[in-house]
Formats: sequence, structure tokens, C-alpha cells
Amino acid sequence: APHRFDSIPLAPPDAILGLTEAFAADTRSEKMNLSVGVYKDASGVTPILKCVKEAEKQLIESEKTKGYLPINGQPDYRSQVQQLVFGDRVESDRIAMVQAPGGTGALRVAGEFLARQCSPTRVFLPSPTWANHNAIMQSAGAPVESYTYLADDRRSLNFEGMLSDLRDKTRPGDAVLLHACCHNPTGVDPTAEQWQEIARVISSQGLIPVLDFAYQGFGDGLEADAVGLHTVLDKCAEAIVCSSYSKNFGLYSERVGAIGLVASNPAAASASLSQLKVLVRSNYSNPPRHGAAIVATILADQELTRLWKTELDEMRIRITQLREKFVEGMAKQAGAPDFSFLLKQKGMFSYSGLTAMQADELRTKYGVYVVGSGRINVAGMDEDRMDWLCGAVAGVLS
Ligand code: PLP
Repeated sequence: APHRFDSIPLAPPDAILGLTEAFAADTRSEKMNLSVGVYKDASGVTPILKCVKEAEKQLIESEKTKGYLPINGQPDYRSQVQQLVFGDRVESDRIAMVQAPGGTGALRVAGEFLARQCSPTRVFLPSPTWANHNAIMQSAGAPVESYTYLADDRRSLNFEGMLSDLRDKTRPGDAVLLHACCHNPTGVDPTAEQWQEIARVISSQGLIPVLDFAYQGFGDGLEADAVGLHTVLDKCAEAIVCSSYSKNFGLYSERVGAIGLVASNPAAASASLSQLKVLVRSNYSNPPRHGAAIVATILADQELTRLWKTELDEMRIRITQLREKFVEGMAKQAGAPDFSFLLKQKGMFSYSGLTAMQADELRTKYGVYVVGSGRINVAGMDEDRMDWLCGAVAGVLS
């Protein structure tokens, strides 16, 4: 019989992970990786938080079983993250909480829910957005559309364009994906006043807001970063929140996330939960235990929660300081453009304004790795070599 696998075409490599491989193979000692999507501390490592280590120690002692979790996940974890995301904003019996394997897993299940239970809904994504949003929604079977987000200057929000797209391109029942904070890849977030307006349009158009909440605490702080989400919840009776604890707990590989579906009434929440469980069951059956147990342990313990908040603040402040140092460093480069727009942006990422060709040159000439879109991960900057980095960026810009 002919081999079935012999004619399978090679899939294109993941653009960002491909750069990571090239970076690892680069033998130049001055190389710097600004392409990946993970936080790095001053010594260039993605650390395990102290609160996580402590929670893990406790878990080793106390854990009694590795038996399956419920389909919708560990109950303590669910109630802790529900509090973190929603506070007391929404009545508990209107929320369907489902633990998911990371933000990606949450988005995938949410996408399948939209495709199967809310058809003929389309999912509107901001342009640009995290590249995986498109792939996830398409794999989930949800038709994808886009709405204007970034202005032509590539450093600010095209607010009018966004609102008119949400008004004119959508039909009632369509879903709109919003980055709750720290927009990836641009770092451009709406202001609190703009969120009011966005929420009003979503509500009056009858759209389903889907909030991707992957960076809570990385922008202005845990509470401040929830302002957009809370504004939407105040104005809309229904919403889906896909949260991730990869970044703010540094639990990337443990796959910790959640879907928080808000329905207009308790019966609708129960029915939605039952359908979410059906989707999970045929997908990965039930979620992994360890990462969620870490988060639940930390959030159930006052001391550990305090430690977590301190460590999260440290990450956020380090990113802000790197933004400042880079902007100062670029200001010292003769003839270089003004980079002060980076100070207004939130989270790990910004569009640097570098073209794909300049990003290429930065890599080949200096060993500085930047994605082709010009997105930089600010947390990847080495503060001790900021002047060198600024010189390299100025070099390719001139
Ligand atoms: N959403 C956005 C905007 C992200 O940037 C990421 C991770 O890079 C995710 C979701 C998914 O995170 P996770 O690793 O928890 O799946």
C-alpha cells in the first residue's frame, strides 16, 4: 500500500518560534532577543516566582491524589480566578467558569462555543492582533472578520475607525474580540473614556464582547488593568472573558487559564456551562491540575497573595523602566526619531516602527532579534547594554 504520509506538505514554521531557534543558534555574545513573548528579568531569565515555589512546596506536602479534575476544573481555582477577573461586578449565578489549559485553550473552547451555539456569529478581531487569534478562531470553526484598531502612524489607536467598523461592519449577534489590556502586539490600549464609548457601541449593536485577558497586572496594575473589562460588563449583559495566568504568575508551561462566560440570567449560565463542558470533554477531557492548584493555593493564602502582588509589581515596574531607559537612550542617538510614544503604551510589547527589512538588518548586523512586524518585547532588553541596543536601532534606522 502507498504510504499515506509521504506526500504531506511541510507546514510553514511559526514566525516567532522560528526566530527563537535562530537566536539559540546565534554564536555572537552580544545578541539580544526582543522577539519572544515571555517576561525576562534583569539576568535574562524567565523566573519562577517565589510565591509559586512556596505554593509548590505546600502542594508537594498536601496533595493527596492525581485523580481527574472535574471537566470544568478545580472548584477552588474557579472561584479564586472568578474573583480576580470579575470581583463582585456580576452576580455569581450568571457566570459559567471553566478552567482551561492556558489562555489559548480558553480562546479555543470559547471559539467553538461561538461557532456551535451562537451561529451565525462572526468573530471580529482587531487589526492587528496576536497572530494566533486568527488561527484559533478559524480552527474553532468561527468565521473571522477584522475591525480597525491601529492608526496609520502605527503607534496610536484609530478610535473613530474602530467605532465605525464596530457600528457598520457588524450584525447583531456577532462577537468582538477585545484585548482587555496590554494589546499584543502594539501596546496600544483604549483610555477609560474610550472604553465607555466602545462598551456603548457593543451594547447598542447587540454584539457579544469576548475579552482576552492575558496580561492582567502588566499594564497599570491588577485593578487598573480590569477597568476596560468592568466597563464592558457594566453595559453588556453577556460577555466571554478568556483569562490567562501564564504571564502574571509566570506559569507559561503549566497551562493555566479560564473561560468566564457571563449570561443574562442563571438558567442561561447553567445551559452555557453544560455546553462548554461538552466541548471540553471531546477536546482534552479535563484540565491539568498542577498549575491551577498553584494559583488557587496562592490566592487562598493572604501572605502568598501579598508576595505575588509584590512580584507582579516588580515585573510591571521593570517593564516601565526599560521603556523609559530605551526612550532616553534613543534620544541620545543623533538623528534618531523620537520614541517617547513607547511611554504611553502598556505591557511587554510595542510596535517599534521598524520595517521587516530593518528588523532583518538588526538581526544580521547586530544580533538583535525583532519580529518582522517590528514588534519588540520590551522585557527582552538588557538594561546594562541599553546604549549599545539604541546604537544598533539607530544604525538600521539611518
Ligand atoms: N492572548 C494573548 C493576547 C497573548 O499574547 C497570549 C500569549 O502570548 C495568549 C492569549 C495565550 O496565552 P497562554 O500561553 O496562556 O495560552
